Amino acid sequence: MRNVEEQTKAGCPHRNSCPMFELFDTADQLNYWKQRYCNSEYSRCARHQSMCAGEQPPAHLLPSGRLLRLG
Ligand code: SF4
Repeated sequence: MRNVEEQTKAGCPHRNSCPMFELFDTADQLNYWKQRYCNSEYSRCARHQSMCAGEQPPAHLLPSGRLLRLG
């Protein structure tokens, strides 16, 4: 099993299936989330925690646990 530092370097294991990751990639103002969570502290991400618990998080759930407001 990889240690925490190696896991953090690899980034979130949900990046290929998480719709938020794709959104963070397309909008410059959302890049903060990708750098803060997806590429580093993903274990603190509310979406990650929800998926690891076997749940399907709401589509607009941000890593912080708040909902993204569009428009
Ligand atoms: S938003 Fe959360 S679950 Fe989705 S890729 Fe980023 S860290 Fe992983």
